[in-house]
Amino acid sequence: MKCVLVNPPVLVADPYQAYAYADVRPYGLYQIATMLAKEGHWVRVIDMMEYRQGDYEALIDPRFEYGSLPSGDNESGARKNVYLYGKPLAWLEDELERIGAADQVLVTCCLPFNFRPAVDVVSLCKSKFPAARVRFGGLYPTLFPKHAARSGADEIFEGRWEQAEKVMADPSLCSGTPDRWIFKLVNGCKYRCSFCINAATSPSLAFEPRSVANEIARLQREFGIEEFCNWDPNVLLMPDALVELFRWLENEGTSPRLRFDMGISPHLLTPDVAKAMYDAHTVAMTIPFESVDPSMMRRFGKPYGESESLRALEICRKTGFDTRRFHCTFLVGIRGENLRSVFRTYLSILENGGKPTPFPLTPTPPTREYRRHERWLEGKDLDELNGHLWPTQPAKMIGVYDTIME
Ligand code: SF4
Repeated sequence: MKCVLVNPPVLVADPYQAYAYADVRPYGLYQIATMLAKEGHWVRVIDMMEYRQGDYEALIDPRFEYGSLPSGDNESGARKNVYLYGKPLAWLEDELERIGAADQVLVTCCLPFNFRPAVDVVSLCKSKFPAARVRFGGLYPTLFPKHAARSGADEIFEGRWEQAEKVMADPSLCSGTPDRWIFKLVNGCKYRCSFCINAATSPSLAFEPRSVANEIARLQREFGIEEFCNWDPNVLLMPDALVELFRWLENEGTSPRLRFDMGISPHLLTPDVAKAMYDAHTVAMTIPFESVDPSMMRRFGKPYGESESLRALEICRKTGFDTRRFHCTFLVGIRGENLRSVFRTYLSILENGGKPTPFPLTPTPPTREYRRHERWLEGKDLDELNGHLWPTQPAKMIGVYDTIME
């Protein structure tokens, strides 16, 4: 069977959003591609993302303009341009023409507010390969199957593909060797933060630490990949597995750079785990702060507070990390939030040696933050919930929040 897998481009409302997308490879799509290839099918992955390493401002240019979307709440009347980050449809059309025909096309879409470029891809694949079965999967079709069905795909694939989840994605299916690759160790997160769509899934081991170490060593040896990013929602829920992975990496005699950009839970970071991460050549880590305001932390349902985030930063600094490179994220864009708290959070991170990284709220159904803001969101389609459009804010606050991001 001839299978084509497509990762569509995404939308950005400002350069900062493009920066936040950097290096997010569609690991699940590559897992499926790897599984299909192992089963003996002809497989081709078309990744339309760009993975820029800088110059994000250049994207905010009429050449990349995708259209304009309502900005602010459902009464603001404001609009903002959004831009395509990734390859255009004309590029995909050329790629599909080169392939000629396919039996199956699998299109993914992770973030629901990016559904439009993904639907464009589904439509193009349907028209270029009318005999192929076009399957649409990922988080967006899983959370919003009826909405995704409007794409005209032959199948809406909900949930996870269990057999593919057992396979480690093979970077040889990329066009060109990637500089970085992803590794997974722990699935799920037991917490229920009010804004998070990863919430409340039981944590489980994605792969045995030894096999992850073997694979990392193989990829470093065979492909020369020197940097590996962990993409688990909450890897520190299984600290023993992480430390075991580091031990196996040492046994393999391999020492790639490791990144934990998805974030670690600060209250779960102990000096011993931090030391093990340091010794294992960790070069990047995200330490979430969310807010210095205890009432906001209670609202978010976070399992930790500012003191735990500060303690984690201090542990990392004492361990020897250069924490100025660690993204310390904090949430912005809650309707009616106290901007003094936002700036206090920013200053607290800065004073304590972290890199303040604002994270705009994307209120996604059915999270609690979506429900809390529902009266200002009613009537908005999913693409209008992009946090960088400030969907919960009155018109007068849009410029204020844009300035905060700058
Ligand atoms: S701890 Fe992190 S991954 Fe878990 S629910 Fe909260 S925000 Fe989501």
